[in-house]
Amino acid sequence: MPEGDVVWRTATRLNSALAGHEVTVWDLRWPSLATTDLRGSTVIEVVSAGKHLLCRLLREDQRFTLHSHLRMEGSWHVRPSAESATGGPRAGSHGRQLREADIRAVVATRAWTTIGYRLGMLDLVTTDAEHRLIGHLGPDVLGAGWDQEAVLTTLAAHPDRAIGELLLDQRVLAGVGTFYMSEALFLRGLSPWTPAGSLGASDLVGLVELVHRLLSANRDRAVQITTGDARRGRTNYVHARAGRPCRRCGEPLRVEMIGEAPRERTAFFCPRCQPGPTPAVSPGRSGRALRRR
Ligand SMILES: [Zn+2]
Repeated sequence: MPEGDVVWRTATRLNSALAGHEVTVWDLRWPSLATTDLRGSTVIEVVSAGKHLLCRLLREDQRFTLHSHLRMEGSWHVRPSAESATGGPRAGSHGRQLREADIRAVVATRAWTTIGYRLGMLDLVTTDAEHRLIGHLGPDVLGAGWDQEAVLTTLAAHPDRAIGELLLDQRVLAGVGTFYMSEALFLRGLSPWTPAGSLGASDLVGLVELVHRLLSANRDRAVQITTGDARRGRTNYVHARAGRPCRRCGEPLRVEMIGEAPRERTAFFCPRCQPGPTPAVSPGRSGRALRRR
């Protein structure tokens, strides 16, 4: 699942392609938005907010925001418009083949065509109503206004909740998904099920600083690295490695669900390096089914 760093990079790419240019193609393949038409508007900017993407546009004196969320498997692709015009968005040498049926949005300028693929959410609002879509978000880990103190205050207000669950809660801080949650807690030696209230101030500060550092370090590169080792197969410690040996102690890594259904998510961890409360081993869960999530 794309996390804050991937979404930040997507916004940067879309912004370079579209900002300052007039929209020549506007094709939203989304039931509630299919009849909208913002051709002739100018793209002001594309920015990320946590895991949300905001494409802001200006038509005459009105500002609009095209909001999208990648959810589990969404992506935005950028291709030269000349290529799209001759062969459609599936053609060409740039990037992978896209399935026409999974294209949810095409927004193009004369130079570049951007394609929203398998998007999890798509909305169009006036920019002054953006807060209805992203107003619930806590401080954006990669945002210009990153506010670590506000995050620590929120964590302190939920002493009984598991720290792993809090890191995934976008109302606490925006941008962290299961990858950074698992990796950061491994690096700090904390079980994801540790109640936030049982952690000392220095543990919490260290953890929040680490999350910020990991996402910042990875936002400009295609591979998410938490080990400092960019070699294939060595880039991270625990995420998607259930059943394989811990890189530090050799113990088989585990995966269990964390959080309340239906919003429960996977948490990968080392039972030896991350002491603290952990769920009982559930049959099959350390196996194939969850390993790759
Ligand atoms: Zn270990």
